[in-house]
Amino acid sequence: MADFAMYLAKKRGKNNYQFYNDELNKQMKRRTLLETRLHKAIENEELEVYYQPQIRLNTGCLAGAEALLRWECDLGKISPEEFIPIAEDNGLIIPIGEWVLREACKHLKRFNKNGMNGFPISVNLSTKQLMHPTIVDRIKEILFEEDVKPQMITLEITESALLFYEDAKQNITELRCLGVGISLDDFGVGFSSLSMIKNIEVDELKIDKSFLNDALENKRVRSLLETIIQIGKNLEAKVVIEGVETAVEMEFLMKQQVYGQGYFYSRPLTVGKFEQWYNAFYRKEKENRLIEK
Ligand code: C2E
Ligand code: MG
Ligand code: MG
Ligand code: MG
Repeated sequence: MADFAMYLAKKRGKNNYQFYNDELNKQMKRRTLLETRLHKAIENEELEVYYQPQIRLNTGCLAGAEALLRWECDLGKISPEEFIPIAEDNGLIIPIGEWVLREACKHLKRFNKNGMNGFPISVNLSTKQLMHPTIVDRIKEILFEEDVKPQMITLEITESALLFYEDAKQNITELRCLGVGISLDDFGVGFSSLSMIKNIEVDELKIDKSFLNDALENKRVRSLLETIIQIGKNLEAKVVIEGVETAVEMEFLMKQQVYGQGYFYSRPLTVGKFEQWYNAFYRKEKENRLIEK
């Protein structure tokens, strides 16, 4: 009997090992495949920038839009959660990131031409980009070439650890001097969120969606969320709450005098759909009054 049990355990162990190995191989193959495709993504015109509105909750005004990258190739739609880390590892995030910023500038001008004025666009900036020695000059060049005022662009940064590197800190300071807004994305889930705001001045805190999702059911999380919001306000930063999905969540936030972004208002949309969304919600109203100055 004991021998039989040992036999089974060994067999299972071996199977587990085999399974683990197969899974790892599969993942590595997929990664290599995506990496090959990603090299051609820009020139094959497979990338597209979508926009998700940010709303000033107590007025319902459009206060901004976040640019979110989408990629569709012969393998189907690939999530940014999957391809951004690959692009960060192989350096492609530098040309891809520049392409996103340029597209956002072009779209901003298109919105303005169509009478959609006065709201900035937020662009995600990867840590790898922020650490790049020529990033400030490149951003300056792109904004100049595209004739977009730095005040109309907000850069969303995440990795908290990077703020301990002097060069990243220096780049953030230079970007803010240029007039670009700096937002701390996914705030509250990094391991050193408080150190970040202690070490660097920012224009916006974007509170991670996990807080709002738990706040309505959990009193502790609600207190925490309210405290984080107050910290942002005390620092005179714009406070944006991610992941507003329901009317109940929206109503809870309306008392907080903050900004919201989430599926409740809209999913990320193509440029054309974003313009349609805008027209449906704002054009019919007195648009000048409804767009945040
Ligand atoms: P992020 O910057 O935190 O973007 C917010 C993510 O939350 C987006 O996912 C958005 O679609 C999703 N989201 C918005 N509202 C809701 C909601 O109500 N509920 C839920 N559950 N999710 C919501 P997405 O577009 O898949 O992007 C994922 C991440 O990929 C982004 O997180 C960002 O870190 C990265 N990313 C996307 N585009 C770019 C880019 O152009 N450059 C860089 N460096 N990173 C990007
Ligand atoms: Mg973001
Ligand atoms: Mg986020
Ligand atoms: Mg994120």
